[in-house]
Amino acid sequence: MPGTSRMPVSLRESFNSVKRPRPSNPLQVVSLELLRNIVFFFFLLRWTRRVLWKLKGRGLLGTIAELYSDARRISYGYFLRLPGVRTQVRKQIDEAIAKLETKMVPGNTTRYLTLPKEGWTEDAVRKELETLANMDHARWEDGFVSGAVYHGEEDLLRLQTEAYGKFTVANPIHPDVFPGVRKMEAEVVAMVLSLFNAPPGAAGASTSGGTDSILLACLAARQKAYAERGVTEPEMILPETAHTAFRKAGEYFKIKIHYVACPAPTHQVDVRRVSRLINSNTVLLVGSAPNFPHGIIDDISALSKLAVKKRIPLHVDCCLGSFLMPFLDKAGFPSTPFDFRLRGVTSISCDTHKYGFAPKGNSTVLYRTQSLRTYQYFVDPSWSGGVYASPGIAGSRPGALIAACWASLMTVGEAGYLSACEQIVGAAKKFGDRIRDHPPLASELEILGDPLVSVLAFRARNLNIYDIADAMSARGWHLNALQNPPAIHIAFTMPIVKVWERLAADLEAVVEAEREKERVRAVEGKKSRAGKDVTGDAAALYGVAGSLPNKSVVVDLAKGFLDLCYKA
Ligand SMILES: *Cc1c(COP(=O)(O)O)cnc(C)c1O
Repeated sequence: MPGTSRMPVSLRESFNSVKRPRPSNPLQVVSLELLRNIVFFFFLLRWTRRVLWKLKGRGLLGTIAELYSDARRISYGYFLRLPGVRTQVRKQIDEAIAKLETKMVPGNTTRYLTLPKEGWTEDAVRKELETLANMDHARWEDGFVSGAVYHGEEDLLRLQTEAYGKFTVANPIHPDVFPGVRKMEAEVVAMVLSLFNAPPGAAGASTSGGTDSILLACLAARQKAYAERGVTEPEMILPETAHTAFRKAGEYFKIKIHYVACPAPTHQVDVRRVSRLINSNTVLLVGSAPNFPHGIIDDISALSKLAVKKRIPLHVDCCLGSFLMPFLDKAGFPSTPFDFRLRGVTSISCDTHKYGFAPKGNSTVLYRTQSLRTYQYFVDPSWSGGVYASPGIAGSRPGALIAACWASLMTVGEAGYLSACEQIVGAAKKFGDRIRDHPPLASELEILGDPLVSVLAFRARNLNIYDIADAMSARGWHLNALQNPPAIHIAFTMPIVKVWERLAADLEAVVEAEREKERVRAVEGKKSRAGKDVTGDAAALYGVAGSLPNKSVVVDLAKGFLDLCYKA
């Protein structure tokens, strides 16, 4: 170095020695090296373990297929972000959202964007509420809507409103102030536990809805695995058809999710594949009774056996099955084991606000043991606001809804739920028979699997099922469009029971009409739908979404939809 040559020799030596410190202690070198090797070894071990788990879970071909679809998704994502493409895509999304806005946010109403200077009179508020209730809507009152309203009879609604009115101010976070609400909440949970054959020592909690119940069950499973097994990278194994609330739990609580296919003909989750995906990070297995998309009950017995063998918690999602599943047997319909009588079932979610007929904002989550429930609790002993304890996600909660739920359960009673089960599942079965056995539906539509409860999904053999959904919409029916595979489902409820024959007749007419259109197209020599054909909403959305390797466009559309929900 030029700078160092003019230094005195002694200084130069010390300078050099600073630059390249010679190890004075050989042990230090060894331990540093060792540490580095150990870190590297664990790094290698971790990744080897991951790769082996992947290969065990998916097989070589499955792993390659997964890598391929990931690569496709990622590269398509880059394509969508290319400058020219991005502006084009954005323009189309904005157009679609603008079109949606004209439907969702009608411009011909008076909008109230700030507080009225002086409060309105009661009569004025009442009059406006009446107008709001009568805004143009899908006619659930006449049974034209799948799911959504599960009971809706005058008498029940009146009693619920009365119960709500008596407890409008109540908040179960203050059990000393509202002891009646505490009692009702505990009793609702006890009644549902009893319906699901909970063993002694079982416990539960009431929540704001099915999603809330599922989030808590996932959280409890994660916390249990962390506390008892030190699992810091939790994973759970989901049937592809399991409710999306589990995916939400995965995102919120950082639980990695493995999806398992639910192949035809049964459309139940493939339990052998579930078994292969289990590893020491698995905190929860999941089955549905039944699932939302196809109304199919997974093989809970097999999942339970697996859960017992591997000593992993198993959650049964009975949000939809709610008060129908426990009555199938008694109503004389075929059933299958699904509740705590199966030893491996550790938690169950059951929505009192679905076939329990309680008002929306009510659900329950049940646990085999009280200690499992404790893992969903939140306790803060040191907050300056005082020692704080809440059973779930919410702090303050509406006691009035608990009262209305309790009132519903008490007034309908066992006999009422049994009768509802007979009517609802009975109608679903008759409708299913019509599709299976009678032309033209029998030749064109195919029911997915063997649905035992109230939801029934079907796909079209030759027609576009989304065109059928749109044509049904044009006749006032509000059915659910599904994807992967393309299908429609109908969730039978009390309002639909009364009109199922009309529903079947309309479906027959629609299928006939769609076939006729198809015939005309064939004669005119067009292979597929021509551009000038009017495309309905379902066909437009799922026709495009189904073919995309990367769904970011759909995500943007959906976010636009959510924004519209808050457009005053
Ligand atoms: C409705 C439903 C849920 C979630 O319920 P929300 O009350 O809408 O949050 C969960 N699982 C299944 C199978 C459902 O049908």
